[in-house]
Amino acid sequence: MAECIVIGGGVIGMMTARALHLSGMDVLLLERGPLGGESSWAGGGIISPLYPWRYPDSVNVLAQHSKTLYPDMVAQLHDESDVDCELLHSGLLIVDQDERESAMKWSRRWSENIQHVAGRKDLLSIEPALASEVDQVLWMAEVMQVRNPSIMKALRGSFDRLGIAYREHAPVRDIIVQSGRVTGVQVGDEKLEADRVIVAGGAWSAGLIETVQHIDVEPVKGQMIMFKGEPDLVRRIVLAKGHYIIPRRDGRVLAGSTLEKTGFDKTTSERALENLTATATALVPVLATLPVERQWAGLRPGTANGVPYVCAVDDVKGLYLHAGHYRNGIVLGPASVQLMTELVLGKEPHCDPSPYKVGALH
Ligand SMILES: Cc1cc2nc3c(=O)[nH]c(=O)nc-3n(C[C@H](O)[C@H](O)[C@H](O)COP(=O)(O)OP(=O)(O)OC[C@H]3O[C@@H](n4cnc5c(N)ncnc54)[C@H](O)[C@@H]3O)c2cc1C
Repeated sequence: MAECIVIGGGVIGMMTARALHLSGMDVLLLERGPLGGESSWAGGGIISPLYPWRYPDSVNVLAQHSKTLYPDMVAQLHDESDVDCELLHSGLLIVDQDERESAMKWSRRWSENIQHVAGRKDLLSIEPALASEVDQVLWMAEVMQVRNPSIMKALRGSFDRLGIAYREHAPVRDIIVQSGRVTGVQVGDEKLEADRVIVAGGAWSAGLIETVQHIDVEPVKGQMIMFKGEPDLVRRIVLAKGHYIIPRRDGRVLAGSTLEKTGFDKTTSERALENLTATATALVPVLATLPVERQWAGLRPGTANGVPYVCAVDDVKGLYLHAGHYRNGIVLGPASVQLMTELVLGKEPHCDPSPYKVGALH
């Protein structure tokens, strides 16, 4: 019998299980498929919300704290797994000028560095590949990125090295509650006992917990494409009208992403391929010379305003919810995990936990 069962082997479940293990707890993680095979693999890995000023403070509080935790966390994961998460300080260029006023107000409030850069000479010194029509940008020089498949691989390596128990291809069918407290979960015909259960099932979390608690997490599909290029052909993350490109260290360039509410369907479409190619090549024309190597889709765990659930479930002792990170699971992950760990261990939370409860602003 484990002290704590974590349901879901995405970035949120894996980081949570690792943090609890490091605090001395006996943890078992259960994953329906392979570890890290869903949204956490599919994402872009930008360590900032897109247009952070559009989000409530509760999202910004976690994002700001996570950014300070990332460098040490990836270094620790590297030590534990020998896998490089490819943390890059690529910075973020935002082309949309109608965001300028909100961006500058936000930068003053959160003490973030955003520069308004105008004139081709200065622009080209930041990103030589930018389209010639772009003559001014907002420049967030400190924005970082990680490579999603690498961070998931590093987490798996860390589990193996640290001896964190996990089971793949183990779909949880039911959460068992007796006399107002959780006693374990049902996997097939097997009952696995634990005093604490954390639901970190991403887009599937609402279904997992529905017999106990209603929550509004729904799948929001995001399609992405990847160009195959040479290193340093493009250097910066570029964002315009909700679409972005993300250059990786090996020269690959991701372009994303769609926002589609089509249930649990992960198919990709020709239309998305055309749209993503057109928007990416309009921003950075050199991409038109590169082959599109791959197209994929992931299901974000969507909530109405992007605020995740990081909380104990009222009325069921020992049951916790850690889900609904929507477009920001990678950036919010470390801080959200710290809060979840504090709640489970009964420690003083590092931030006000009330916005992340069921029934708060969701
Ligand atoms: C195209 C795209 C781009 C993105 N870009 C970014 C970005 O740049 N920056 C950023 O911060 N975020 C980004 N995101 C969002 C981010 O990827 C998600 O918020 C994050 O991955 C959510 O992690 P998770 O662990 O909650 O969910 P998931 O990774 O989906 O993991 C949930 C896991 O639970 C498992 N599970 C479900 N039901 C059960 C069950 N019954 N039993 C056992 N296991 C179960 C699933 O199989 C899955 O592996 C992006 C997402 C997409 C799709």
